[in-house]
Amino acid sequence: MSDSPLLVTCGLPYTNGHCHIGHLRTYVPADFYVRYLRHSGKEALFICGSDNHGTPIVISADQSGKTPPREISEIYHDHFDSTFKRMNVIFDRFGMTDDPPTNHQLAREMVQSLIDNGHVYQKTISQSYCPPKCQMFLPDRYVEGICPPHCGAHARGGDECDQGCGKHLEPGEITHPVCKVCGEKAR
Ligand SMILES: [Zn+2]
Ligand SMILES: [Zn+2]
Repeated sequence: MSDSPLLVTCGLPYTNGHCHIGHLRTYVPADFYVRYLRHSGKEALFICGSDNHGTPIVISADQSGKTPPREISEIYHDHFDSTFKRMNVIFDRFGMTDDPPTNHQLAREMVQSLIDNGHVYQKTISQSYCPPKCQMFLPDRYVEGICPPHCGAHARGGDECDQGCGKHLEPGEITHPVCKVCGEKAR
């Protein structure tokens, strides 16, 4: 191992629900590892943060009534922050992805660089649509149904088939789609 300072981080918890034991099997061992490094005389920086972006948070916001996504994120960010402290998982910094001065600016620069280098292009894709109630196209997590090309398990759009074959499902691939907002059959 080199003598340079070490950066340790973990997958970011989504701010759309409570902390559970599955989260802690990630953060507790990481904290353990950081303590081990420091006891061994290494310099280690332990950073993490909550992930405030993505359709699961928008769905939680929709289902909660009128609470805006940012407010949901703040509630669960504070919940994760205080839970980690109670579990003695001590980050040097626990931030938020929806943090304007740092993450917004950096994300803009990265996207602009992708555009400038020709990596952003238009493409037509098929997507589920909820005709009876919502009358809108349903982005990935707004759809549940059956994993068709692979195994026939219950699955979510734009996600891995985590109850079946584990393969990634592109939008529009799921059969028997159901709208997660209203529960009606989608197309
Ligand atoms: Zn599957
Ligand atoms: Zn619907």
